Amino acid sequence: MGRTTSRSEPAGAPRVTVLTGAGISTDSGIPDFRGPQGVWTRDPQAAQLLERGPYLADPAIRRRTWQMWRDSPVWGARPTPAHRSLVDLERAGLLAAICTQNFDGLHQRAGSSPSTVLELHGSLTWTRCLFCDSRERTADVLARLDVDPDPHCALCGSPLATGVVMFGEALPGDVLDAAVEAAATCDVFVVVGSTLTVQPVASLTAVAAEAGARVLIVNAQPTPFDRMADRVDRRPIQESVPDLVAELLTGP
Ligand code: ZN
Repeated sequence: MGRTTSRSEPAGAPRVTVLTGAGISTDSGIPDFRGPQGVWTRDPQAAQLLERGPYLADPAIRRRTWQMWRDSPVWGARPTPAHRSLVDLERAGLLAAICTQNFDGLHQRAGSSPSTVLELHGSLTWTRCLFCDSRERTADVLARLDVDPDPHCALCGSPLATGVVMFGEALPGDVLDAAVEAAATCDVFVVVGSTLTVQPVASLTAVAAEAGARVLIVNAQPTPFDRMADRVDRRPIQESVPDLVAELLTGP
């Protein structure tokens, strides 16, 4: 394998890649999408606010989508002990990458280096033009939403959208490539709070397993990859992840 090492990595220490999903942030007050109390389980129409085609075509959908983002619990959320324990893993030199399905920015707010966080489904922190390269902070767009409920690009006049990847859009290719590399070259692959039902992110687990990594899954519900795992932990994430990090830091 083309296993790469970094200078900060202690000799013989395992190289760990982590995949996080909505489950790591629900204790921060951010509901997941597909769980029993998920946003889309309770309101299936809410998923339509994140479809690129209707979003582009309908100003009313864009206005509703921006209101949804303004009211999002993400803005008041705080990182959890699980987020913070992954920072400890990075500081010890064991962390290759955090591949995340979350767009809430809580890994970075907990203290993870932005360069180690691979945001596969994009980010709410930034807002982009859907046609040119201009971007600005989402907080600035939301601050003027009362006077500008359907914001457009100052450069080209096209509708703006948050950096969250919409249905009908490809995942950012460079981020996905980096995530595949991190999955294929790690010794331990840890899944935290993901049901592993959304592709292509879920298949990172298979990439890691096929490359010979130990696979550890921490999730309350069963996942389609449980039988590939060396260990499945169903305890609450805020208990199991700090325990797991302590175990990795102590070594075998
Ligand atoms: Zn533009």
